[in-house]
Amino acid sequence: MTKALMSSNQTTVMNFYSTNNPKHQVSLKEAVIKGLAPDQGLYMPIKIPKLSSEFIQKLPDLSFKEIGYEVIGTLFEDQLAPSQIKALVDHTLVFDAPLVEIEEGTYSLELFHGPTLAFKDFGARFCSKLMSILMEGTPQKVKVLVATSGDTGSAVANGFYKTPGVEVIILYPKGKVSELQEKQFTTLGENITALEVDGVFDDCQRMVKDAFLDQALNEKLLLTSANSINIARWIPQCLYYFYAYSRLPKTSKKLAIAVPSGNFGNLGAGILAERMGLPIDTFIASTNVNRVVPDFLHGNQFQSKPSIATISNSMDVGNPSNFYRLLALYDNDEALFREKVKGFYFDDADTAKVMIQTYQQSGYILDPHGAIGYLGLRNFKKQHPDEYVGVFLETAHPGKFKNVVEEVLNLKLELPERLEQFMKGEKKTIALKNDYAEFRRFLESKN
Ligand SMILES: *Cc1c(COP(=O)(O)O)cnc(C)c1O
Repeated sequence: MTKALMSSNQTTVMNFYSTNNPKHQVSLKEAVIKGLAPDQGLYMPIKIPKLSSEFIQKLPDLSFKEIGYEVIGTLFEDQLAPSQIKALVDHTLVFDAPLVEIEEGTYSLELFHGPTLAFKDFGARFCSKLMSILMEGTPQKVKVLVATSGDTGSAVANGFYKTPGVEVIILYPKGKVSELQEKQFTTLGENITALEVDGVFDDCQRMVKDAFLDQALNEKLLLTSANSINIARWIPQCLYYFYAYSRLPKTSKKLAIAVPSGNFGNLGAGILAERMGLPIDTFIASTNVNRVVPDFLHGNQFQSKPSIATISNSMDVGNPSNFYRLLALYDNDEALFREKVKGFYFDDADTAKVMIQTYQQSGYILDPHGAIGYLGLRNFKKQHPDEYVGVFLETAHPGKFKNVVEEVLNLKLELPERLEQFMKGEKKTIALKNDYAEFRRFLESKN
């Protein structure tokens, strides 16, 4: 642990353990600033608090923010002051997550109304605010290093834009990111610096890893990551499950929630909500042909595989990093996990077909990721006629995957205003050779 981290006067209650070693316990601050445990395990709350049944019953009367204060307050009450919890929630929940009924008993939870049009905006905004709260009173700035092939860079850049005490350095492969994605993290300026690397995504990722492993560098600089395994990005995602539940019409049917998944952080946050007391009967883990988790749920051993490219490319993950977090949420009970979570997977042809059908039947435009969530839900409901009301998570705006959606549906999509705004911005980047020594010099010069 670096000196800067030790010298702060933040609370030192140990609230998180590593999935690789339950005896390795750390404070909220250390879990957030470290991201991944030193033993490469994932941090998990030592105790998952239960919400009262009164709270669950009064959910329909509460606003999204009021739900947020209670849930985050319950999770972090001995680690953050009430004013900090309020500031965190207020900063995060600045856009809605509407529930849209697309056919009887089937709802789309639209998580794409944030600045970069994907659900990752929730986690990125919460993470940035929490880091700045935890860094208050620490003279040193924290540097967030991000390697991106597109989506993570845009969500993190926008979430962390102008966050006091935090600088963001994004490495991305030159010429390998769509213009729209590039504009979302290269036009902001301020505390966001984009490095255009003469290499591929793996080179960017390797340089970031080398920096985290560089002991001499870490003595001087406070480096951290904001990837999806960080609890500060993971935990806040439970909020929109509570919100979805609160907005569903009253029914005597059971509730199934389908989550289109890649790294499985989003599904894990849903399970966290359920473990805290939210009445969700069944989760549906829906993937593209990167099917290692559905395969596990059907009774096979968990076995990572190389990833396969698909039209739902934000879910092209062969080694889902949150898998052991899901297992931990079920107390490492594989039978319970398989009972509560049902796995489905679909190929690109299935995905395109359901996008076309849905558009023809209801006029609703699914993005390729949400389409996979919807398909999982539809198949599950067919196996249990009339038993369930279902929600699927629509994780991105169709305009974010304009090329695929336009080709599949044979139409022209209008980009939302906020994306158009990015396109007008001026790209500012620093060129970087594919060379760790040069990256290191850059980081030191910024100190
Ligand atoms: C990141 C992403 C996913 C996958 O979410 P996980 O939490 O990694 O499972 C799904 N859809 C979209 C649009 C994404 O950007």
